Amino acid sequence: MAELKIELITIGDEILLGHTLDTNAHWIASRLTENGHRLRWISVVGDNASDLRHQLRRAWNRADIVLLTGGLGPTHDDITRPIIADFFDDNLIPNPELAERIRSRFVGRGLKPPPGCHLLAEFPSRATPMPNEHGSAPGIHYSLDDHELFAMPGVPVEMKGMLSDYVLPHLATIRSGVFGYRILRTAGIGETRLAELIGDRERLSPATLAYLPSVDHGVTLRISCTGADTGEIDQALQKAEDYIRSRVDSHIYAAGDEPFEKAILDMLEERNMKLALAESCTGGMIASRIVSVPGSSNSFERGFVTYSNRAKTELLGVDENLLQKHGAVSAEVAAAMAEGARLKAGVDIAVSVTGIAGPTGGTTEKPVGLVFTGVSDGDGCEVQRYHFIGDRDANRRRSAQAALVMLWRRLKDVLPQTGVKV
Ligand code: ATP
Repeated sequence: MAELKIELITIGDEILLGHTLDTNAHWIASRLTENGHRLRWISVVGDNASDLRHQLRRAWNRADIVLLTGGLGPTHDDITRPIIADFFDDNLIPNPELAERIRSRFVGRGLKPPPGCHLLAEFPSRATPMPNEHGSAPGIHYSLDDHELFAMPGVPVEMKGMLSDYVLPHLATIRSGVFGYRILRTAGIGETRLAELIGDRERLSPATLAYLPSVDHGVTLRISCTGADTGEIDQALQKAEDYIRSRVDSHIYAAGDEPFEKAILDMLEERNMKLALAESCTGGMIASRIVSVPGSSNSFERGFVTYSNRAKTELLGVDENLLQKHGAVSAEVAAAMAEGARLKAGVDIAVSVTGIAGPTGGTTEKPVGLVFTGVSDGDGCEVQRYHFIGDRDANRRRSAQAALVMLWRRLKDVLPQTGVKV
């Protein structure tokens, strides 16, 4: 069965001017996806009658479902209601029931209805009002010739209420095909290498695979599929997931929404291990990621932000001679930092990072983006060298991710519970 073609139009000059981020589009897209639908098109138009008419015509011609947000209020720049009525050759007529609902909303809270609010009760005669639990402007629902149009307010809380309470339940009743997806999260490997390892995309059919890389959270794999019912989709997704896991399982740390930090903290807890951090160029970024997970105190003991050489010596016991000889950004110092953090904090495992984030401070020998990460546990210490190419922010975020990847890999070598190294 064919999948519903859904188009979203967000309306407002403020979006085109860059004054408002189009979070409505992001929110609507994710809710639709969660509910088994897939948005085919998103477009943005300003508060301009002819642009909106043009876009509405295009959407109505190609989509089964047209969603709009914005411009439903009573002010002169709110053009959505009259344009939609005009588009369907309809008239705005006073709707006494709506007028009373809007009036009592203000009176019920001891407020005088503002001038102009009666305009909101002028409603297209052939449309159905969608209740607005969080504001005054009702939404507009047209159902014509096997097509549906839902116009919602721009104010996010009002739009969210209407989409959840009215639009999604309505779409569930007319759905003719289902969309499903699964997420697998990887770390420590780039998308090109992943694609190489996964190889033949035909093996995933009828599911498809998308690679979603990010600077600091690894590459997310999204497997998606469209089908007649959820049973058929689940089967196709499982087949694709099994194939992907058979190729790259060792790089996958979680399925679904679980963040990398959470996977690491779970591993620490399963192994009954306590963690300390020694951070230089990341300045506490790793600690911040770790403590963003509720319950992190079970495994995270402390973090040292040791930016200067003095701090590295005073807080971590890094030998001054080592710093003199090799410099703060070196494999030797990364190892000494990890070792020092582990011993000073009295924990089982510690991770360190030291690097040149830039934009200044680089030399030919030690360029901007040069980073060393270290990990130390009872069995010894290892160090990794990286050369990132990015601005200061990207270099710092990549460094934090690299250190976490190193920790994750080391933890994978330790058996859960027993703490015995394999
Ligand atoms: P009202 O005029 O009654 O406030 P409306 O439906 O006319 O509601 P808009 O005037 O278009 O809505 O937008 C109201 C506010 O909602 C904007 O100033 C902006 O802060 C926010 N908003 C509008 N559209 C979006 C969007 N796409 N994403 C995020 N916020 C939005």
